[in-house]
Amino acid sequence: MTSTEQAVETFDSFDPATDRVVGTYPVHDAAAVDAAVAKAREAARWWASLGFAGRAERLRRWKGVLVRRMSELCDVVSSETGKPRGDAQLEIVLAVEHIEWAARHARKVLGPRRRSSGLLLANQAATVEYQPLGVVGVIGPWNYPVFTPLGSIAYALAAGNAVVFKPSEYTPGVGAWLVDAFAQAVPEQPVLSLVTGFGATGAALVRSDVDKIAFTGSAATGKKIMATAAERLTPVIIEAGGKDPLLVDSDADLDAAVDAAVWGAFSNAGQTCVGVERVYVHTAVYDEFVAKLTERARGIRPGEHYGPMTMRSQLDVVRRHITDALAKGGRALVGGADAVGDRYVQPTVLVDVPEDSEAVREETFGPTITVTQVADMDEAVEKANDSSYGLGSTVFSRRRGMELARRLRTGMTAINAPLSFAGIATLPFGGVGESGFGRIHGPEGLREFARPKAIARQRYRMPLVMTTFARTAKTDELVGKLVRFLHRR
Ligand code: NAD
Repeated sequence: MTSTEQAVETFDSFDPATDRVVGTYPVHDAAAVDAAVAKAREAARWWASLGFAGRAERLRRWKGVLVRRMSELCDVVSSETGKPRGDAQLEIVLAVEHIEWAARHARKVLGPRRRSSGLLLANQAATVEYQPLGVVGVIGPWNYPVFTPLGSIAYALAAGNAVVFKPSEYTPGVGAWLVDAFAQAVPEQPVLSLVTGFGATGAALVRSDVDKIAFTGSAATGKKIMATAAERLTPVIIEAGGKDPLLVDSDADLDAAVDAAVWGAFSNAGQTCVGVERVYVHTAVYDEFVAKLTERARGIRPGEHYGPMTMRSQLDVVRRHITDALAKGGRALVGGADAVGDRYVQPTVLVDVPEDSEAVREETFGPTITVTQVADMDEAVEKANDSSYGLGSTVFSRRRGMELARRLRTGMTAINAPLSFAGIATLPFGGVGESGFGRIHGPEGLREFARPKAIARQRYRMPLVMTTFARTAKTDELVGKLVRFLHRR
């Protein structure tokens, strides 16, 4: 090292199943982040100049790299999160679908469209088109380190922006892999670039010269990000946590509902933003549902069906929620206070848990589920909606699925299948309340990363010109008559 070079601070990423160090990455400071954003700004001009077709072609090349090297990416995801390879592959497959959809539909959703100009201004041709914002900063979590950030990145890129990506400090290797794969497909400019580090690096990205921040993570961090973004009036999307309910009606297919509850609650060790954390079951089928759920949950094994907790500190949160639920009169039919080990958590099914306990109100983010009996589906909806969060929800009902779905105060609802909305590229993804705002995926997700540009082009001069000092009393009289004719009731 020469005297002019400074030692770069680094951090390690670990395999949560073994604590083995799997990679070492720089902690980027504000200067490094600003430099990455400045380079991205140049790249953004080139990327925007390629047009929809040029970008779609390159996004498909990137998609091709992801698919050809999928097995390698599964290993990286598995080693940093601890999740089984099959689950890693599932999130990659879903992400690939989103890249393809965004690339294919960007022109149709964002390209110029004629709008009606109305009778009074019939001489104008009105057009709206969605232009790229410039540089988007994407801050990601660790639980789905491919699927979740790509929900923002793919759509931001397809809309014509450059992206600076700050992955979670738990999964920097996955972030680096994705950015390297992009550079393999698009070597010309750093259209997608990487900054690594902890919260301070994320905060530096929020403070930098980006045109928008797309954040996915906890509600607590989302609030900090919004406060920091306010300094420069930088717009933000906040994709935060949830406490997703699953409703089981008296006419539901109970086996399917149990299967969905088990998958929704325990897959990925419960570390899913749209994971099922609360179940409300119609009294007519409660006993049967609980019996079936208990039996199924007993067959789920950590280490086989799901991995360790990726973030060690979450073990304390899960333990606290279970202990609180039991102290307040709840019962554990499967698992319980001893379910929380050093790395793994056994599946835990809790019943009779009061609605004011932490296990019902706070995001647990572990393989636990509360099951509550309700007199009817009105009570189920009321209890489901009594939450500060509002991300996803699930309904099992043969006759009333659509009606109940509409009444749930969440951004997304799946009927008769678990989490299906997340894999459908045309559907917007996002929450309400403390689950955040803004949408990724689908046409709404493309528009989130573009600004509407309105253009009115005069085609010919009207006899009735209203916007001139040369306007006469006769014009005013005629306009008055016209409006009375058009809008009188
Ligand atoms: P987190 O909030 O701790 O961290 C998320 C990211 O924010 C990380 O990259 C982190 O380094 C960064 N960060 C931390 N402090 C920051 C600051 N002050 N300024 C800027 N950036 C900062 O969340 P996590 O533990 O990584 O992820 C789990 C959470 O994410 C859960 O609450 C989960 O529900 C949520 N999540 C939501 C969605 C969704 O789409 N709504 C998807 C996945 C996960």
